Amino acid sequence: MQKNDTAVIEITDIGVGGEGIGKLDGYTLFVKDAVIGDRVEVKVIKAKKNYGYGRLMRVIDPSPHRVEPRCRFARQCGGCQIQEMSYERQLEFKQKKVYDDLVRIGDFAPELIGRVMEPVVGMDDPFGYRNKAQFPFGTDREGNPVTGFYAGRTHDIIANTDCALGVPENREILEIILAFMKKYQIPSYNEKTGDGLIRHALIRYGFVTKEIMVCLIINGSGIPHADELIRQLQAIPGMTGVSVSENTRRDNVIMGETYHVLWGKGYITDYIGKIRYQISPLSFYQVNPVQTEKLYSFALEYADLKGGETVWDLYCGIGTISLFLAQKAGKVYGVEIVPQAIEDARRNAELNGIKNAEFFVGKAEEVLPAFYEQKRAEGSAETHADVIVVDPPRKGCDGKLLDTIVKMAPEKVVYVSCDPATLARDLKILCANGYELVKVRPVDQFPMSVHVETVVLMSKVKE
Ligand code: SAH
Repeated sequence: MQKNDTAVIEITDIGVGGEGIGKLDGYTLFVKDAVIGDRVEVKVIKAKKNYGYGRLMRVIDPSPHRVEPRCRFARQCGGCQIQEMSYERQLEFKQKKVYDDLVRIGDFAPELIGRVMEPVVGMDDPFGYRNKAQFPFGTDREGNPVTGFYAGRTHDIIANTDCALGVPENREILEIILAFMKKYQIPSYNEKTGDGLIRHALIRYGFVTKEIMVCLIINGSGIPHADELIRQLQAIPGMTGVSVSENTRRDNVIMGETYHVLWGKGYITDYIGKIRYQISPLSFYQVNPVQTEKLYSFALEYADLKGGETVWDLYCGIGTISLFLAQKAGKVYGVEIVPQAIEDARRNAELNGIKNAEFFVGKAEEVLPAFYEQKRAEGSAETHADVIVVDPPRKGCDGKLLDTIVKMAPEKVVYVSCDPATLARDLKILCANGYELVKVRPVDQFPMSVHVETVVLMSKVKE
């Protein structure tokens, strides 16, 4: 095949990015927006020797798994990758993705994975699930401020204030901000020149408490006429606070290093199960509260605490999992790199009257080894943990952390992962060092996207 060739192919597989995969005489074509089971006409946009990339020109025979997307920007927007695939088929895809990574990257026997893996937990309503949105601001051709989402793999903004994954309040808030910017000619930030003021709006919504918070990320030190903006935002039911975070860097990191409150509170409060959490703008908080409760319930079930245990929760964020586990453990230690998240974690422990949780700021791969070495030097029994929970970002756990986990010899390791590939890599290391896989449970935290969360129980092999 060559560039600009067209062909008609059957889509027989799904790629890691959610794209359709089809073959023509042994030549593989990856086609974005094509759904497994479709017969499509494609135009080759990039041709390599054995494979190429095609643009979907026309769906000739739609797949039984193809559905009408809820959002008219579903194809262009980088947020959703598989909105045109039925939700049932999405779940099947995610189950297989975890399975395949464990077998291919983790080197686990397919029979073992078949035995320990449980069905992915989906949502009853897979839209409107996000409690957080970060909308980038830009400028359209007419010079008007716009906000929406980045088109896939670019920083071009698709103007859309009505994302199907978010809450309806987002739209109202964004329209207020845009009208305000127009009125006072306050420019959006321009990534190319570094000029302009408004970079992003972060909106957080508490599904249980209905509290809403807005944090504007700005390239400067203040917003002109901010009082008027605040007054308008206050009119939105549930609005608890407006804050700004200054970010004058020229990189891709959204938030500045600090934030300050313009009005109200700098955080929202929400519940997961019985535990109440305060969440400030710079802290990580799971974006899908409905699924998070299920995820944490599995983590708690897997930890199987009886009451006196010592538990570590590494990558603990605002202490969400730590406090969930503290209800049943003897002592919980949490470790997290973002200082503001640890402030939230400590406050959250207090808020819930939890006295058996202690938190450390730092890198998990530094804090835990240092703790272990110190306790070993002291001859203390605290070198041992009963349960260690890890919930790392996509890059997974650092090798040094895994080493220390093995040395601390917990009876159980509970691994919460947002990337099955690094999960498989890390599980392989733990299993080469005295652990065995007991349970694997994917949970769909991100419907319409290709991402999948997994919670895994490993236990120490008895000698
Ligand atoms: N367990 C929490 C947060 C999980 S997200 C929850 O469920 O809400 C991963 C967290 O790891 C983020 O809060 C991030 O700030 C933190 N993090 C990233 N790298 C880290 C590191 N090297 N050491 C400790 N924490 C880290």
